[in-house]
Amino acid sequence: MNTKPSLRNDWTKQEIEEIYHSPLLQLVYRAATVHREWHNPEEIQMSTLLSIKTGGCPEDCSYCGQAARYHTNIKVQALLSIESVLEHARKAKDSGSSRFCMAAAWREVRNNRDFDRVIDMVKGVNDLGLEVCCTLGMLTEEQAVRLQEAGLYAYNHNLDTSEQYYEEIISTRTFDNRINTINNVRKAGITVCSGGIIGLGETHADRISMLLTLANMPKHPESVPINALARVAGTPLEENPKVDTWEMVRMIATARIVMPSSMVRLSAGRIEMTEFEQAWCFMAGANSIFTGERETLLVTPNPGVSEDMQLLNTLGLKPMGKREEVRVD
Ligand code: SF4
Repeated sequence: MNTKPSLRNDWTKQEIEEIYHSPLLQLVYRAATVHREWHNPEEIQMSTLLSIKTGGCPEDCSYCGQAARYHTNIKVQALLSIESVLEHARKAKDSGSSRFCMAAAWREVRNNRDFDRVIDMVKGVNDLGLEVCCTLGMLTEEQAVRLQEAGLYAYNHNLDTSEQYYEEIISTRTFDNRINTINNVRKAGITVCSGGIIGLGETHADRISMLLTLANMPKHPESVPINALARVAGTPLEENPKVDTWEMVRMIATARIVMPSSMVRLSAGRIEMTEFEQAWCFMAGANSIFTGERETLLVTPNPGVSEDMQLLNTLGLKPMGKREEVRVD
C-alpha cells in the first residue's frame, strides 16, 4: 500500500514556522525521511547554467552584479550565437548534466530578433535530448507559449525573498510582477523553477513567508533553488555577512518538507562550502545542483564538474538522468 502523504497547498504560516524553527537535527531527520518517500536519495540532478547575455541589465536587484547601475567587474556580453550555445550544451551533456539552463540579463522578453534567436536555441538544446530551462525576465503568456512550443521544459523566475521584504531588495518591479510571470509560465504548460536567496538582510519571518508563498501555489514549483547570497563587489549587498551553512540547511530542510515532490536545488553559495557542508545540505533534502566546465554560476564562481563528480563519488551519489516528472496532481 502506498503510504506517501499527499501534497498540500494549504500550509499555514504557523505550521511552516514550527517546522523551520524545530531543533536542527530533528528537522534534518524529518526532511531526510520525506526526501526518501518522494525521491531516490542516491540521485542528484546535475544542471548546467549558461549566461547567454551578460550584464547591462536595467533592473536594480541589489544582489546582482549584472545590474548596469552598479560598478562591478562583470564583463558585458551581447546575446551569444546559437552555435556557441549548442557547443556549451553538448559539453554539458557529455559531462553528465541532464538539464541545461540559459540565462539572459533582461528585464523582460521583447518580441524581437533576440527572442527569435532564443527560440532557436531552445529548439536546438531540446534536440540534443536535454531538459531545457530559460531565465529571461518577465514573460507574457503568448511568449511563454512560444517557448513551450519550441520545447522549453522549465522556466526559472525566483521570488527572491518575501513579499514584505521585496521592495527593500528591488524597486524596479514588484512581487506581483513575479507572480504574474510564474502564472503565465504555468498557463503555457511549462514547469516552474522558483525559489529565493538568503542573506539579503531578511528576517527568519521573511524566509518563512517566501516558503509559504511557494508551498501554497496551486502547484508547487517543480524546482526550488535555494541560494546563499553571493556577495558581488560593487553591489549594495557586498558587505553583507556570509550566510551560515546551518541557515541554508534549515531552509533546504523546510523547503523539502513543505514541497516534497519538488527538486530542491542547492544553488549559489556552494563555492564557499566545504564538502561536509554540502553533504549536510544533501542530507537535508537538496537533490539538485548547478555544475559545469566553466566553474561559474552566471557571473560568480561555482565548483567545476570534476570536483562535483568527486564529491558525488565520495558520498555514494550519482547524477540523475533526464527527469520523469513526479506528477501527482
Ligand atoms: S537579477 Fe536578473 S533582473 Fe535583476 S539585475 Fe540581475 S540580471 Fe537583471
